[in-house]
Amino acid sequence: MPIRMLPTWFARKRSAAPPPKDRSQLRVGIPKVLNIWTTHQFWVGFLKALGIASENIIFSSDTSEEQGREFGKGRGTVDCCYPVKCISGHYGELIFGQKKKINILFSPMIHSLPSILYGHVVDTVTCTRVMAGPENIKAGFMKERDVFAENNIVYASPFVSLGDRHMVTEQLHSSLKDIFNLDPEETRRAVQAGFQALDAFTAKARQHSRDILTWCAKNQKPCILVLARPYHMDTGIGHEIEGELQAHGYPVLWLQYLSGEEDLMNWLFEADLREGRIKSPFDIADVWTSSYSSNTNEIMWGAKFAARCPWVTCVVRLSSYECGMDQPTYTPTQKIVEATGTLFFKFGDLDSTKPSGSIKIRVETIVHYMAKYSQEIIQRKLGWLSPECPLADIATPTHSVPAEQTPKAKTAVAC
Ligand code: SF4
Repeated sequence: MPIRMLPTWFARKRSAAPPPKDRSQLRVGIPKVLNIWTTHQFWVGFLKALGIASENIIFSSDTSEEQGREFGKGRGTVDCCYPVKCISGHYGELIFGQKKKINILFSPMIHSLPSILYGHVVDTVTCTRVMAGPENIKAGFMKERDVFAENNIVYASPFVSLGDRHMVTEQLHSSLKDIFNLDPEETRRAVQAGFQALDAFTAKARQHSRDILTWCAKNQKPCILVLARPYHMDTGIGHEIEGELQAHGYPVLWLQYLSGEEDLMNWLFEADLREGRIKSPFDIADVWTSSYSSNTNEIMWGAKFAARCPWVTCVVRLSSYECGMDQPTYTPTQKIVEATGTLFFKFGDLDSTKPSGSIKIRVETIVHYMAKYSQEIIQRKLGWLSPECPLADIATPTHSVPAEQTPKAKTAVAC
């Protein structure tokens, strides 16, 4: 008998599951940037399931010039995209700006995203600059000396495909096992808890969107849809343009949390499905064949939704300075939205400067056109849909639409 087998045979066997590891004192800082804006609930659920106390999960503040000046100065790296550049300020705030120091700076490299379009598009991957952003910014904190080590902070940046759920446990276990002392089973449970938290939050937010649309339908009131990337929710990147519009009394929906319930989708896309232009209401192959990028796909789908939904009378498109991912989508989204006479306004090349005067003037312009044309747009779009609206019992003006408008709209919506 080989001697080396003995320790294995006679080792004390565990009689029950191992006691939970105490991680309650660990403080984890997460930069609130890029796709964290739509996946934060996953990370909170995941870390809490590992035993990290809620109060020890710390997100950085919204982006601001002060944050960049105070914490990100001199840490710049080569990236032309403002949403990536400004991450330096978030890292710096978490490293230098906490009264109680963090132990781990947690900045995942998210390769793919959960998406309402999953299964209907080619893939749901993220922008490569977004995915690689954490590595890029880390370099700015290590180029002269290791700032993380100097501050006793462990840098954790797992590569993770949140859009491909079956891969996540293995990815997070292999990259985090030494940092958090993880075993595979607790990683699996934590990933499950993370997705449960994310799904519950997303479902609730989508329900809010549906409630807003229902209110609009019952009261025949217009609302605005924002077509943008998740990080435009950051007040320092999106400059709160949607907030300014909402202050004028128009409800605002965000693309990321649009209602996607079957009854509403089938109602809006009924004609497209009947005529075989698309296979499902989430199919965007009629307008966007290279559907690899998650956020880009959703922007295209949102444009189609807006073109059809009667109460979305205005689309506001936000895009950051020289965004290479957005550039090919500018013309198609505008054409899709405007094809049904829906108002379309674009704020492009957003960066750190907030030209408040010009934003104010443009917001006033949008509000003026909404007040002038919304009722006409609502009635026109209602006229192209079946009277069986799932949101409210409404009288659709099917016969009040001038005959010459219908063929034009059908052609337009298909584009
Ligand atoms: S601005 Fe565009 S290209 Fe740059 S990180 Fe954002 S999505 Fe990617």
